Amino acid sequence: MTNGFLSQIYEAISGARAEVIGEPEFRFRCPCCHRQTLDEIFDPEQGTGWDICDHCGWEDDSTTDETQRSGCNRGSMSEYRARMLARPNYYNRDKWRA
Ligand SMILES: [Zn+2]
Repeated sequence: MTNGFLSQIYEAISGARAEVIGEPEFRFRCPCCHRQTLDEIFDPEQGTGWDICDHCGWEDDSTTDETQRSGCNRGSMSEYRARMLARPNYYNRDKWRA
């Protein structure tokens, strides 16, 4: 897969042709909204992670139980998902992102 599909999107939006080259950047999947938005995934042994999803705002703290209230997030994963469902226009504002 390449970034070539972006040429069509760019042309549809701007009306001008452009060549887009390169490979898409790999991103990890957000455990909350499942979009590929994270630069790294939580790893307690390495002490890495804690990436914040720029789509849903969830901070990856290794929480897997969707009803568990997370310490660094303001609520549980299911509450974040309910918020996305309640405001679909806001959360789909950037639908071209993977
Ligand atoms: Zn997310």
